[in-house]
Amino acid sequence: MSQSKYQICSNCIMDTTDPDIAFDERGWCDYCRNFYENILPNWYPNEQGAKMLAPVIDKIKKDGKERDHDCLIGISGGIDSSYVAYIAKEKFDLNPLLFHVDAGWNTQVSVNNIQRLVDGLDLDLYTEVVDWSEMKDLQLAFFKAQVPNIDIPQDLSFFSALYSFAVKNNFKYILTGGNYSTECVREPNEWGAYYPTDMRFVKDIHRRFGQRPLKTFPTADIFKYKLYYRYIKGIKVVKPLNYIPYIKEDAIKELTDRFGWQKYAQKHHESRFTKFVECFWLPRKFGFERRKAHLSSLILTNQMTRKEALERIAKPEIDEQTMMQEFEYVAKKLDLTVSELQELFEGKNKNYRDYKNKMFFITLGTKVMQILGLEKRVVR
Ligand SMILES: [Zn+2]
Repeated sequence: MSQSKYQICSNCIMDTTDPDIAFDERGWCDYCRNFYENILPNWYPNEQGAKMLAPVIDKIKKDGKERDHDCLIGISGGIDSSYVAYIAKEKFDLNPLLFHVDAGWNTQVSVNNIQRLVDGLDLDLYTEVVDWSEMKDLQLAFFKAQVPNIDIPQDLSFFSALYSFAVKNNFKYILTGGNYSTECVREPNEWGAYYPTDMRFVKDIHRRFGQRPLKTFPTADIFKYKLYYRYIKGIKVVKPLNYIPYIKEDAIKELTDRFGWQKYAQKHHESRFTKFVECFWLPRKFGFERRKAHLSSLILTNQMTRKEALERIAKPEIDEQTMMQEFEYVAKKLDLTVSELQELFEGKNKNYRDYKNKMFFITLGTKVMQILGLEKRVVR
């Protein structure tokens, strides 16, 4: 359903920049309705959740008794994955291997944060470095394709490298920082949050705009990732943050006090590229503010008031001068001149529908997941 006039939800701050948003007679959006009807009644960030999680943790320990590490945790340096690493070791007494993908855009803060956890918790860390010339080529291809999905190359490498490492090394359990507390409102595909593992889409863009073959770049198609790895290879994905009270500011404070962990201005800012995408490229070129989804999640889970969120969203996260410095940095790193990046910025916007994709099958798969109760969020 497309909307012609602007409307913002009266309960959260999602609005008609998501073209498929629907409002009820109270002026509440369908993300809100879904949260209260489907997520909240099935979410136990409390004693009951702890009881549900306990047998899972026991099984991980038992299955991993003979191994050096009983589970794998993909770590970005952001709060969610950092907190998972912390509770896995300290609260659950697990013996995880931390797995980090260096896609070339780590901020110094994120590198320091990971190191502080490794040292403070005495954990082992494995870092996979993505071939920079291939990453750069794929990222440039996405810029040239004029789609808002320009963080797909990074996300694809993160997922794919993690899962293929798990398979290769016989890990049966992956712990992730995925959670309802800060992500119950999922960013719509329209805002560029499109599935990074739709390889039909990635390949079409790379075929048209890429210049060098992807020889070592980690890739795994969505169906390999959702079906083969999970059901054939038996990898189980556990999201412990959904079974404990997970309040973002408290978690940040805990890690800061314990390990000198440093907070970021905004979600996803552990990557300098994602920061650029979310603070500059998406809002200014496409009019998409992903902060609306992030902050709406915090409103629904009572971590922020709607008023605070509106004040926050009214101004950019980064000042203009820093923004320009980031623009220059990104251009230089991708071997573009500032005016070449500017030209791409001014190009005609497209979206995933302008390229080959597997959206039909993914939608079908999502419907099945929703019927089975495995996906409770609004996905579109
Ligand atoms: Zn809403």
